[in-house]
Amino acid sequence: MEFDFVIIGAGSAGCAVAKGLSDANVGTICVLEAGPTDAVPQVKVPFGLLYTMGSRRDWRFQSAAQASAGMRRMKVSRGRMIGGSSSINSMVWFRGRMDDYANWDLPGWDHVSVQDNFEEVEAAIQPQRLPDPHPISEAFGRTLGSNGLATPTPERESAGVFHTNMRHGRRWSAADAFLRPAQRSGNCEVLPGANVDRIAFEENRARTVVLTDGRKISARRGIVLSAGSIGSPAILMRSGVGPTGHLQEQGINVLCDARGVGQNLHDHPAVGVHHVGPNSGYGLTAKQMPAWMLSPIQWLLMRKGRMTSNFVEAGAFFRAAPVGPDGDDRPDVQTHFIPYMMGYRGKAITTGSGFFADVCVCRPVSRGRLTLSSKDPHDAPNIDLGVLSDPADLSVLVAGFKRLRTIIATAPFGDYQAPEAHPAEAVQTDDEIEDYVRNNCGTAYHPVGTLAMGVGSEPVAPDMKVKQVEGLWAADASVMPKITSANTNAPSMMIGHRAAKFICREIGRG
Ligand SMILES: Cc1cc2nc3c(=O)[nH]c(=O)nc-3n(C[C@H](O)[C@H](O)[C@H](O)COP(=O)(O)OP(=O)(O)OC[C@H]3O[C@@H](n4cnc5c(N)ncnc54)[C@H](O)[C@@H]3O)c2cc1C
Repeated sequence: MEFDFVIIGAGSAGCAVAKGLSDANVGTICVLEAGPTDAVPQVKVPFGLLYTMGSRRDWRFQSAAQASAGMRRMKVSRGRMIGGSSSINSMVWFRGRMDDYANWDLPGWDHVSVQDNFEEVEAAIQPQRLPDPHPISEAFGRTLGSNGLATPTPERESAGVFHTNMRHGRRWSAADAFLRPAQRSGNCEVLPGANVDRIAFEENRARTVVLTDGRKISARRGIVLSAGSIGSPAILMRSGVGPTGHLQEQGINVLCDARGVGQNLHDHPAVGVHHVGPNSGYGLTAKQMPAWMLSPIQWLLMRKGRMTSNFVEAGAFFRAAPVGPDGDDRPDVQTHFIPYMMGYRGKAITTGSGFFADVCVCRPVSRGRLTLSSKDPHDAPNIDLGVLSDPADLSVLVAGFKRLRTIIATAPFGDYQAPEAHPAEAVQTDDEIEDYVRNNCGTAYHPVGTLAMGVGSEPVAPDMKVKQVEGLWAADASVMPKITSANTNAPSMMIGHRAAKFICREIGRG
């Protein structure tokens, strides 16, 4: 099979690349996706994410044991289907802070340069305020002063009900917004169940994609790697582009020594508190049974009710650490507020009603790295998230945790208020909180940075071309040199949209 362009990965960014290339009429396009279709109710119904996480539509990766976090292995959930992680995520929509982009320190990537790309993405996505939040989520949205109907913003201290990429009460993923319209244009073919092993080069030009089942798909003009922060560096290393020593250890022929591939892995570390009370948030209680039983019908008839809940209904941004010596008073933590009783004792089914809130570090400084565990594409890579490897992140989480407790204690929850059930009295002093954070933190499922763009030794150029080779671009969350201050789905789609523009310019179609 031969196409003009082959895109690897039908996720948040890959779908946006496909739409941009299809609109520009660059020729034939093929999108390769390892996972199955997204055409199942648990993907379309927002509440269904409870069932897709941990299912065959999730890569179900685990991190390496985290040395600074109790030697625990952490879940690294990643969408494995058409739409990628935009088909499994909580749909919370944030561009990030304006200065996040200036801080990338790349030519042509300040917030003004990316604004048009965000606007075009948002015209297709139309993010909107969550349609039917739980009253306790509305109340959490009033904790840091009135924010009206606006979403909170990482630009300043604020709380509120989140805006989401949902439409008419159902998930509106990158596949809905970009891929299916591209397919309808007739020049874009999508192959689900196409698990990519590696890219084969002619001289140093990326030419053919080799699938794990032996199929080969060739690209006349270019290949775009959009397999996400875990998949893209792994594919590139299996193709012979990566740190020489590591590739040789794995028995891979080295095409070029690219030391930055797989480095700079980071995510938002997060830790939370559980509250439980008889009249609190959603949960399995006798009183709530009739509402649960009616909710599927309510969703089918009106697209309303608890089935439209994305779980992470509201949140806040606030300053946890003292103002920096340089006067830095930017919010340094984000809170995700979930109006659900969530299990914290490791049981499969949890009864009772309650709520959960976390704090996660907006701009972590810890870094990990991704390496191959073998050259066999069926073996998951080693994902060392480097969580809390820099003590600065631990300090922010400890301070954020303390302030979150105060915010919850004084929140206008009325009858929905519930006492803290976990970690509660056992964790009070700074030392106890530090210990709790180390032994209970996870991440927000926002890994980035493993194929960072840069003008130095980074593997990807600011125009998203993979350095040292021809005909290959990287376009997904892996190219972010530093994580944005909030959730990463919108920035990933913006990156995909932008990549299509850069490719068109390169081939004289821009
Ligand atoms: C559970 C969860 C909740 C989240 N919640 C939010 C949220 O509420 N808001 C937010 O902004 N962000 C959220 N995120 C993060 C956000 O979804 C991601 O940052 C974003 O989707 C990343 O986009 P991407 O294009 O880089 O990768 P992805 O969207 O993950 O796409 C990569 C695609 O490549 C495919 N692929 C990988 N390897 C191969 C291979 N070898 N061959 C073929 N195909 C391959 C994958 O199956 C996938 O479809 C969440 C993520 C998760 C997992």
